[in-house]
Amino acid sequence: MNIRTRLTLLFVLLVASILLLFTVSVYYLYDQFRQQEFQQRLEEKAFLTVRLREDVGEVPRADLPVMADEQVTIYNERGAVLYNQESKRPRFSITPFFLRTISLNHPKYLRTGDREAVGVRYVNARKEALIVVASGNDRYGFSKLDRLREILFSGWLLSLAIVGIAGYLFATDALRPVAELIKQVNAISATNIHMRLHVGRQRDELAYLARTFNDLLSRLEEAFVSQRSFVSHASHELRTPLTVMMGQIEVTRLHARSTGEYEQAFDALLDEVKSMIRLVNSLLELARASSDATTLHYLPTRLDELLWQAQSQLVSNKPACQIDIDFVNLPDQEEDLLIMAEESLLQTAFLNLMENGCKYSANGRVSVRIAPGASQLQVTVSDTGSGISTADLPHIFEPFYRSNNTMTINGHGIGLALTHRIIQLHRGHISVESVVGKGTTFRVTLPVVYRQPASSGSSSDAESTKLPDSYNV
Ligand code: ADP
Repeated sequence: MNIRTRLTLLFVLLVASILLLFTVSVYYLYDQFRQQEFQQRLEEKAFLTVRLREDVGEVPRADLPVMADEQVTIYNERGAVLYNQESKRPRFSITPFFLRTISLNHPKYLRTGDREAVGVRYVNARKEALIVVASGNDRYGFSKLDRLREILFSGWLLSLAIVGIAGYLFATDALRPVAELIKQVNAISATNIHMRLHVGRQRDELAYLARTFNDLLSRLEEAFVSQRSFVSHASHELRTPLTVMMGQIEVTRLHARSTGEYEQAFDALLDEVKSMIRLVNSLLELARASSDATTLHYLPTRLDELLWQAQSQLVSNKPACQIDIDFVNLPDQEEDLLIMAEESLLQTAFLNLMENGCKYSANGRVSVRIAPGASQLQVTVSDTGSGISTADLPHIFEPFYRSNNTMTINGHGIGLALTHRIIQLHRGHISVESVVGKGTTFRVTLPVVYRQPASSGSSSDAESTKLPDSYNV
């Protein structure tokens, strides 16, 4: 059932219930009023009859107001009929108990079907107590009651029909903006993801929904555009070496070459292939770091050892690089250097920073400083190289971004994007400071493994350090 039908039905149900309550109350109150009025008339009739009989000795019919099917019966205290109007037998079978219960100031009311009766007590001049029962049929009152019932019921039905139509129109009108939103959303696809929903000047929930949806679209568009530019950059980076390789092969094949020339050509091809493998590996690492982060396995790792491993890996590949690792202040204990890390990924991150420092400085010297803190470790990777211009600084963590002045140096612009993502995965933070011509410093902070405060003086620091086996982000 759609919302419009549901709203209409709810509306009709609600109004129908309220109207029904109102209708039934009106009917009930009117019925009470009719009964009281008729009771009063019967009472008056009873007293008038008995007074006439006692004072005048007879009851002249013509002088009395007549009710439909009326009958007045006068009993003595023992229940014997003294007078009965019209017929000999009273139409109402009155029990002695009923007669006894009628007191002087409290008339009794009785009803059987449409026939109603009132019993009153009367004391005559001779101090005899008489019981007078007047009964009749309130045809006039009942016919008015019937008419009222018909009017109320047909009025109720008519109101329901009107409320149903009004409710449907109201729901349609209330939901029109939703239908409009659905139409607009349906028109948005990958090819026109720049389109936005019309919010209008309203400040209602639907405008808020449209605004929220527009924000979502903006985030999606951003991701979509960066994905598209990533794919085009990656294709470009892969096509360039392939084109170079194809050119080299074609030139080499133009005519027969000496063995030395072939070796030279193969070496050049090998360099290109190695560069491509490096690029593909970086892309794979980036994909791994960017995909499902929950699949990564974190273990408590000593940061200094991880940095030493990165240094030796870099130096074995590039012996010209000189990486100095030092502590700003020595930690109190080994555990102060423990972080939760995906070892191979974090090593790649620091390797990239060290390699860049070496690559972009003439002397190839990089200084790595470890500063242990209470809740986090800070690592600075500094060089005295070419530096990064302020125009380039905001972009260096974007995939494939390279400064113009470093184009002559080998690279693909993936390293820092990957490093940034890896540090994020480790709940850390990376920032950069650079002065052109003077050098660059990358500052990385990483949270240390959670340490509980020592509970008593007797427990050792090692005991008070709780190491989670591993954690997933
Ligand atoms: P790559 O080094 O492969 O070009 P990166 O993502 O590692 O890619 O670096 C992106 C860009 O940031 C580099 O092209 C370079 O212009 C600049 N850069 C990074 N590190 C340094 C540094 N230590 N000194 C100077 N420029 C740097």
